[in-house]
Amino acid sequence: MMSINIAIDGPAGAGKSTIAKKVAEKLSFIYVDTGAMYRAMALYMIRNKINPRDTHLVTEACESVHVAIRYEGGEQKVVLNQEDVTGLIRGEEVGNAASAVARYTAVREKLTNLQQDLAMQQNVVMDGRDIGTAVLPDAQIKIYLTASVHTRANRRYQELVKKGMNPDIHVIEQDIKDRDFQDINRENAPLLKATDAVLLDSSEMSVDEVVNTILKIYKERCS
Ligand code: C5P
Repeated sequence: MMSINIAIDGPAGAGKSTIAKKVAEKLSFIYVDTGAMYRAMALYMIRNKINPRDTHLVTEACESVHVAIRYEGGEQKVVLNQEDVTGLIRGEEVGNAASAVARYTAVREKLTNLQQDLAMQQNVVMDGRDIGTAVLPDAQIKIYLTASVHTRANRRYQELVKKGMNPDIHVIEQDIKDRDFQDINRENAPLLKATDAVLLDSSEMSVDEVVNTILKIYKERCS
């Protein structure tokens, strides 16, 4: 039987992972966080002192990187060359490096294949930047979730504070702007709303409102 795929794309900090996780839980689908895969790839480059902006070195390094996903108690774990790195990839340094390495074809091909395999085997809610446009162009439901830069920076700030970090809101806001610019303007699978995606701006919506909107679309189209 064909699997059902829900693609959620949008810029950093729009709330994609929170929303995608809840929708997946409600529907008993698997949640796939593709950003975590790019982050694992970036962690490898940082650890091995490979400049994430050097096309040649990143492309070459790609051959030594094995990224995998496994699930423990319903939680996604990201495995980098046999090591569970889930807890090591959330910082801004890794996020920025992820955005830099995500520009390269070798990186995207490797991770896109992994994502397509996962989505073929089971029903998924997958979030990222290019899921509706490049990874799962035939997804039954596509959502483009966005929010103002200010709202997104504030959310990221609260998230990091909760994790015990001591971030600077201005640095986060600038990082978000830089990351948006880089993700939107790259040649390879840029951040873009698929023409058939539903646009949701979460600046003025609660998490439950966004989740319920997606569940309603699911009911209309898939059940
Ligand atoms: O979503 P998250 O902030 O964890 O993603 C980190 C970076 O990985 C993004 O800024 C983006 O450049 C890249 N990414 C991507 N395609 C995806 C998911 C993430 O290019 N599907």
